[in-house]
Amino acid sequence: MKTYRNADLHCHSVVSDGTLTPEQLATRAHANGVELWALTDHDEVGGQQRAQAAARAQGMGYLTGVEISVTFIGQTVHIVGLGFDANNPGLVQGLHATRGGRKQRAMEMSEGLAKVGIQGAYEGALPYVGNPELISRTHFARFLVESGVCKDTSEVFRKYLTEGKPGYVPHRWATLKDAVTWIAGAGGVAVIAHPARYKFTPNEEYALFTEFKAHGGRGVEVITGSHSEAEYAVYAQAAQEYGLVASRGSDFHSPDESHTELGTLPLLPAGLPTVWDLLADRIQ
Ligand code: AMP
Ligand code: MN
Ligand code: MN
Ligand code: MN
Repeated sequence: MKTYRNADLHCHSVVSDGTLTPEQLATRAHANGVELWALTDHDEVGGQQRAQAAARAQGMGYLTGVEISVTFIGQTVHIVGLGFDANNPGLVQGLHATRGGRKQRAMEMSEGLAKVGIQGAYEGALPYVGNPELISRTHFARFLVESGVCKDTSEVFRKYLTEGKPGYVPHRWATLKDAVTWIAGAGGVAVIAHPARYKFTPNEEYALFTEFKAHGGRGVEVITGSHSEAEYAVYAQAAQEYGLVASRGSDFHSPDESHTELGTLPLLPAGLPTVWDLLADRIQ
C-alpha cells in the first residue's frame, strides 16, 4: 500500500464557494507538494470529473469528495464524504435536494440586509456565484467587501452573516443520518469536518460523534485549517476514543481569503489510522 504523507482532503472550487477552478486547485496543490488530493465542494459533486482528470495530469492521487451541510441539534454541521461513486443516484439526488433551498434563503438574506440599508445584495452576490444552485454566504461576503461595506470577509460574517445578525437566515439542511447514509451508500467514507468549529456542549458533541458512528460514519478531521494546535491534539484523542480514522485538509477557498494554503498544514500525528488507508482501493 502506498503511503501518503501530504494528503489534502478538503477544499473548494468555483463549483461551490471557492474562487479557483478544479484545474487551478490541482496545479496549486501539486506545487505545494500534495500527494493525495480531494476537491470537496459544498453539497455538489459537479467538479469531480474535472478534479480527478486534473489530479491525474499532475501525477497526484485523487479521492472523490464532497462537504454536505447538515442540521444537528440546531446547528449547521459539515460532513465530508470521500472515495464514493460520484454517479450514485442516491447521493446525487440527496445533494440536489440539499442545494434546493439556497436561492430562497439568499433572497431572504438580501431582504434582511436591505433592512439595515444594504440594498441589492442578492443581485450584487450573483456575479460571484459560479454555480447557480450554490449561492452561499461566502458570495454575499465577497460582494460586501468589494462594495466597501466591510474590509474583509471575516468582518462581513461577524457583522452581518452569523446567527442574530441582519443577513442571517436560519436554514434546515440535510439530516446527519441522510448525509452519512448517502456517502456510505455510494461506497465512500463519511468524516466529521472541523469538529472544533461547532458550539456544542460536551454532551451535544458526544451525541454528534456517537450518532455519526451509529449511522455508519467512520472518520473525523484532526488537522484542518479551522483548528488550533491545541485542537489538533484534542481531536487526535477523540479519533482514538471514538474509533474513527483521521483526516487532514486545508479547507482552502481562495488565495485572497484563505488563511490556510493547500498542502501546508502539519502532518497527521504519527500512529493515527488515516482515512486514506481505509480508502486505499478507492484512490484514483
Ligand atoms: P453557507 O453554506 O451558505 O451557509 O456558507 C458557509 C460558508 O461560509 C463556509 O463554508 C465558509 O466558506 C464561509 N464562512 C462561514 N463562516 C465564516 C467566517 N466566520 N469567515 C469567513 N467565511 C466563513
Ligand atoms: Mn465554504
Ligand atoms: Mn465546512
Ligand atoms: Mn469546507
